[in-house]
Amino acid sequence: MVGRRDKSLQEAWVGIVPAGRNNCPALAVNQNMNLDHLQHAIHIALEAEKLGNLPIGAVITLEDRVIGAGGNAMLAPVYRPGRHAEIEALKSVPVELWPRASEMTCYTTLEPCLMCLGTLLIHGLRRIVFGANDPVGGGGVVLPHLPRYFKEHTGAIEWLGPVAAEECDPLFQRALVRLGISVTDRRR
Ligand SMILES: [Zn+2]
Repeated sequence: MVGRRDKSLQEAWVGIVPAGRNNCPALAVNQNMNLDHLQHAIHIALEAEKLGNLPIGAVITLEDRVIGAGGNAMLAPVYRPGRHAEIEALKSVPVELWPRASEMTCYTTLEPCLMCLGTLLIHGLRRIVFGANDPVGGGGVVLPHLPRYFKEHTGAIEWLGPVAAEECDPLFQRALVRLGISVTDRRR
């Protein structure tokens, strides 16, 4: 389902949204990301899947060290639709580190959804690295249309992905199957 559309998205969205000008991201790729953290997120995703949840995982780093991690937990042991991997990872960050949120990076196996993108930004994170595009519910489409607060009072947002489509697209495909989303639903 990826292919041509995926490539165009990759070209369009791997980049930096300048502070105060969230119109169209520049095509500057930050080379300092540590993909070992994405591998860590993939491991968490697989563990979540074993527990009956969606194969999606996330870690949050500060100074290249993991300070938070979480896997999707929305289906088991009970249905709680807000328990996305990024939200679980945010909840595990030690509270005393929040003043340094702008220095943190969220590595996640899948492009964050609207809720997770908004929650990451509200917490003060400005750097998001994701493995696979989510052309169904990914939040990247709203980046050029962020509300005024984010345009005027936050720093530049680095939105880096998809950086590991080969490994993370199959996880996304399995999540779609688990949610019962059909092939035709995947196009937008
Ligand atoms: Zn989410």
